[in-house]
This record gives sequence, C-alpha cells and structure tokens, in this order.
Amino acid sequence: MNPPQNGNAEEPNVSRLLRRAELRVTPQRVLLLEIIRDSDGHLDADEIYRQARDHHPRISLSTVYRTLSLLKEMGLVRELDFDEDHRHYELCDSGECKHYHLYCLECGAVIEFESPLVNELTEQLAREYDFEIADCRVAVSGLCPRCREEHHD
Ligand SMILES: [Zn+2]
Ligand SMILES: [Zn+2]
Repeated sequence: MNPPQNGNAEEPNVSRLLRRAELRVTPQRVLLLEIIRDSDGHLDADEIYRQARDHHPRISLSTVYRTLSLLKEMGLVRELDFDEDHRHYELCDSGECKHYHLYCLECGAVIEFESPLVNELTEQLAREYDFEIADCRVAVSGLCPRCREEHHD
C-alpha cells in the first residue's frame, strides 16, 4: 500500500510501532499514527478527524477518539493539555519524550523546546524528596512574536 518513502529515514514506521506495542495493525491505527507523525506533531482531535476523513470518508469521530485513547494508553502518542478545549497529540515513539512546549494563546502555535534545566530540576527534586520521578510536564503559554506584532499594529 505504502511504498517506502525515500528522504526521511528517521520517520518511524508506524506499523512497527504498533507491533512493538503488541497492537493489531489496523488501517485506522496506521492512518491516525501517520497523520500525527506527518504533521508538526501537535494536532487536536478535530483536525486529526478532518484529515482522516480525507482518506477514509466513513471513519467516525468516535472511532478517532477511541483510537487516540488506545494509542495514548499504549504509550504511542502523547496527549498534551494546553487548556480545557485544546488537547493535542504527538507521536511518542522513543518511549520518552524529553521536550517541552510553548503554547500561543492567540494562534495556537506550539513551539517545542528542550532544556537541561528541566532535567536538573527533576534530578534535584528526586534527591531532595527521595522521589522516583516518572514524568515532568512543562507547558508555558503566552503570545508568540507574530501575534504580539499584530497586537501592536
Ligand atoms: Zn501566536
Ligand atoms: Zn511536542
């Protein structure tokens, strides 16, 4: 169905991800994972649904939600909560996603960043509280440069 794409060798093979998670490879799962993989990584469920319908016109929104929550439970995608109505999904193929997010309240842009300071903080907390840390989320919201410029016009 999908010939191997030349170019991006780093693109994770979504069927392999499913098999590694011991999930059956179904067209819906492959499709959703591919949509999430091929985007900038931060689509919300409605957008995923819209794109999925372009390929499978009969897919339902509830299938999309069900599949997303399964993929999330299996650790293949990560759900990002920027505010109550905006959940974004991104691929989490390495098992550990060590990046964090800046979220623009105006246009919804999501900018990823990495910071050694976050690692330092979690290491310090682990020591100080003798706590085994599983996850640390840093989500910073505000206005991106483009939206700030528009405010000043
Ligand atoms: Zn913005
Ligand atoms: Zn991200």
